[in-house]
Amino acid sequence: MNRILVVVAHPDDETILCGGTLALLARAGAEVHVLCATRGEGGELGEPPLCERTDLGRVREQEMRCAVQALGGINVEFLDYTDPTVGENEVLHPYTDDFDQLTTCLCDYIQQLRPEAVITHGSNGEYGHPAHVLTHRAALAAMPDDVSLYTFSPSFSAHPRPRLANADDSADLILDISPVFEKKVAAAQCHRTQNALFVRRSSKRAGRQLSISEVLMKVEGLHRVSASTNNLSDQLFESLLAPWKRLHDVETSA
Ligand SMILES: [Zn+2]
Repeated sequence: MNRILVVVAHPDDETILCGGTLALLARAGAEVHVLCATRGEGGELGEPPLCERTDLGRVREQEMRCAVQALGGINVEFLDYTDPTVGENEVLHPYTDDFDQLTTCLCDYIQQLRPEAVITHGSNGEYGHPAHVLTHRAALAAMPDDVSLYTFSPSFSAHPRPRLANADDSADLILDISPVFEKKVAAAQCHRTQNALFVRRSSKRAGRQLSISEVLMKVEGLHRVSASTNNLSDQLFESLLAPWKRLHDVETSA
């Protein structure tokens, strides 16, 4: 059994940023685990609000459990950090100042789970979110030599949502996720409190009202930060994610 661990900062990151990849991995028989640092307590409440602020963590935990089921029976656990609310002028915040404690936490988790590969946020935190950058750095610091580290939403010319692309991470693998796109849509629909936000932002940029499925990326990528010493994980991804497209195929067909 191939075991993959995905480390994210907030509920919904797993679906929006790599839901198709996770669904493909699960469909191929990998044992996929998501570890989420917070319950997204600082996020949106929904439009109109679906709960009180004090209840949002509990509601988003349930949304996340629904989403990972929709992606294909993926496991999820939480690290119990609290997600701070968005500050004035939409200023975003990380969920802890204690980097060493977070790294130790991740290190212990990885030692216990013993995944073959870890997938996490990119080095630019996608759109620069400090909680995503923090999660990336802590995962990097926590990685043992015999586990490969990959990051999602790398940069490539045909990236469907350039705002979410990590400018400093090149794509090593680009995936056409259309075979599992309906699972990704179902997972995104589970994140009921956050849906209005995804759709509002993208609709504003598009200049028309979009649906959830129009907002979600149908192509996803991975950047390889470090291959394990035995180099098993590249072969693992290639076999699990077949049929997959190499960078060249996607860029020339786009
Ligand atoms: Zn996030």
